[in-house]
Amino acid sequence: MNSKQLIDRTHPYLDGKIKLLLIDGKWVPSASGKVFESFDPTTGKKIAEAYEAGAEDINLAVSAARRAFDGPWRNAKPAERQALLLKLADALAENYDEIARLDSIDYGGIIARTAGKRSRYLQMLRYYASLAVTVHGETTPNSIPGEFLTFTKKEPVGVVAGIFAWNAPMDMMIWKIAPALAAGCTVVVKPPLEAALSSLRFGELMQEVGFPAGVVNIVPGGVEAGSVLSAHPGVDKISFTGSTATGQAIARASIENLKRTTLELGGKSANIVMDDADLDAAVPGAIMAAFSNSGQVCAAGTRLFVQSRIYDEFCARLQEEAGKLKVGDSLDPRTEIGPLISQRQQTRVNGYIESGVNEGAKMILGGSTIPDFGNFVAPTIFSHVTDRMKIAREEIFGPVLSVLSFDTQDEAVQRANASEFGLAGAVWTRDVGRAHQISSRLRAGTIWVNAYMQLDSTMPFGGFKMSGHGRENGRMHIESFLETKSIAINMA
Ligand code: NAD
Repeated sequence: MNSKQLIDRTHPYLDGKIKLLLIDGKWVPSASGKVFESFDPTTGKKIAEAYEAGAEDINLAVSAARRAFDGPWRNAKPAERQALLLKLADALAENYDEIARLDSIDYGGIIARTAGKRSRYLQMLRYYASLAVTVHGETTPNSIPGEFLTFTKKEPVGVVAGIFAWNAPMDMMIWKIAPALAAGCTVVVKPPLEAALSSLRFGELMQEVGFPAGVVNIVPGGVEAGSVLSAHPGVDKISFTGSTATGQAIARASIENLKRTTLELGGKSANIVMDDADLDAAVPGAIMAAFSNSGQVCAAGTRLFVQSRIYDEFCARLQEEAGKLKVGDSLDPRTEIGPLISQRQQTRVNGYIESGVNEGAKMILGGSTIPDFGNFVAPTIFSHVTDRMKIAREEIFGPVLSVLSFDTQDEAVQRANASEFGLAGAVWTRDVGRAHQISSRLRAGTIWVNAYMQLDSTMPFGGFKMSGHGRENGRMHIESFLETKSIAINMA
């Protein structure tokens, strides 16, 4: 492939105008005038400029969110919040192709993936819209002397800061705003500099459907903006998705006013294949688990444990099947592995591949021809990996799979759990007893059986251990944007 074979990359949103911040219902430049550049990871070329939020912009955005929380949004009935979220879903449906294409150009997610998520995003928005009118407190039995009516009320936690990573911008934008708005909170969202454009375009849709000024503010920024937002006394809750190190920094910054936090962090998830598994399903499943989104997935199944009796056969089949993956242009519908987000990430991932070779793992796939432009890394598989190797311990966030061998079920569980992370995991087996035993014993927030990466709006998703705390999706998600108030009324 050469750069002349690339798909046409024109896009109505990429019109050469500097993209503005959304603060208090208005599109404005940053106070400092600072701008950042967005690059297409496929070509490495600049596609847009946008204003970068600094401390002053964050202060303005938080003040606007507070005014909206104390003002119009407080008075918005649950049914009104629901109606706006449903209108937003309809607006997204109408503009979806354009937004998916924008994400594929901006963060390099392959078009088969970004376009394929349409129904998932609409379901998410509509699910949270339904929660706006269904969460409620309860009357409680009490033994207080006299006659008392006691009950709980659910109230919005207040102003929410949403901070997120670049690897799935629209998933995260929806996860940061929709449950918060359904709960009655207002939001300041800080998308990452690497992939802010779809969030800004989504902000235009939010305005079109009529969210009041200040209810959602969108302020792309980097570490400075994120740090100011995390420490801001006007913020009541932080909903964060990103690396464990940043999650720790945010937890520290949030201490001063004891902000509520949801931390969706990194992972090094174990994918266990027992020797009775259906290999026709497990082989493609393991490939998808490791290489989707070029491996830039928090829950990626990058520690593949295969039972020793089938280890050699499994490795051979992985090598053959993954060797056919088509690497290339994110906009080409046939592409299966797109570019990584940045040159920095490409260098980092190549460093891990080098460490795998140096530590004695056997590279059974990798180093194939990739475009000589953009930020590509060929899908790479190492066999004969041991637990101590860096590639088996650290989150790589690129298309690199480590295959480890084990003998017994107990050993597999014990080694799978010997990780600081605990985001997700999977087991492949035809034995229902084994499936139950292993899924119960794995210390991780989501476990799939004979499947990988199946998510649903109703299924809580989040981590054990250093993969964070709190859950997104499900009723637990909206609960994290609510305070519970107990009321006792003396009926005498
Ligand atoms: P990152 O932690 O570097 O950045 C994430 C966000 O935090 C960005 O918006 C960034 O600007 C901001 N940020 C950086 N430093 C900050 C600070 N000191 N204070 C406040 N905000 C700050 O993460 P990344 O490298 O961009 O993304 C990859 C990571 O995200 C991986 O570890 C991946 O596993 C994780 N992730 C987790 C989930 C999940 O649901 N658990 C989902 C996607 C990605």
